[in-house]
Amino acid sequence: MKITIDIDTHSGFCYGVVRAIEQAERYLEKNSELHSLGSIVHNSTEISRLKEKGLKTINYEQMSKMRDSVLFIRAHGEPPSSYKIAEENNLRIIDCTCPVVLKLQERVKANYKELKKIGGQLVIFGKVGHAEVNGLVGQVDGDATIIEGIDHIHGLDFKRPIYIFSQTTKDPEIYKKVCNAIKESIINEGGPVEKFKVFNTTCGQVSSRHPHLKEFSRDHSVIIFVSGKESSNGKILFDVCLKENHRSYKIETKEEINPEWFMDGDSVGICGATSTPKWLLEDVADYLRQFSL
Ligand code: SF4
Repeated sequence: MKITIDIDTHSGFCYGVVRAIEQAERYLEKNSELHSLGSIVHNSTEISRLKEKGLKTINYEQMSKMRDSVLFIRAHGEPPSSYKIAEENNLRIIDCTCPVVLKLQERVKANYKELKKIGGQLVIFGKVGHAEVNGLVGQVDGDATIIEGIDHIHGLDFKRPIYIFSQTTKDPEIYKKVCNAIKESIINEGGPVEKFKVFNTTCGQVSSRHPHLKEFSRDHSVIIFVSGKESSNGKILFDVCLKENHRSYKIETKEEINPEWFMDGDSVGICGATSTPKWLLEDVADYLRQFSL
């Protein structure tokens, strides 16, 4: 069987993840261990590589028992309560919150104050329980409604002002549809449509990949999308591929590849999420080359 293999040049870690991993590795060059609150990246292969260097992933319960140590905060960011616990426990923080997320947290906080004065509701379009969303909701002491899609908007009070922000890694097209549906409901119920504010807070590092991935998926007969199961943007970007090319397969490791997915003459495109390292895409490409004899 003869197949051609291409790696998508636009895939690989986003800026925020690269920055976080570099800082963790720099610290581990001089220290034997570092505790990261939550997974530094949603990719088990990369986590194993960093684990060997001394990176330990901890949860909130473990953090609350730590004293006089160093705590690493990943790109997703944290709510103010985590910083408070760290201060009480004398933990020195290496803060790798992505600057894009940090700016979003500040905007949520500032606009909430304005919104409260006019009796409005703060809405976050994002995944319930996602670390970044928890960090955003924490900026306003939990006084926000999280919606995951159009089906969730019915719980909103359309008679009151609404300010909406998106989790950075959400699909901008779906965000637009959700916002349009809210606007329509406000108009239908005679609510204050002039007080409905949409903040465009999806991350350019993710949204710019959508049109490119569409083209990449159309240009290849088979797509191998490499991403951790927990990666939120991995799910979204894979859906973009699948819509364009029904022979798209999502894998976390090369061992999940099924040789029956390929036929003689196929052009195989390998791509991934913002949490997928470039070296892993190359590793998958090397593995696939054995099928092309
Ligand atoms: S996706 Fe964007 S906002 Fe999120 S960590 Fe990466 S660069 Fe930062």
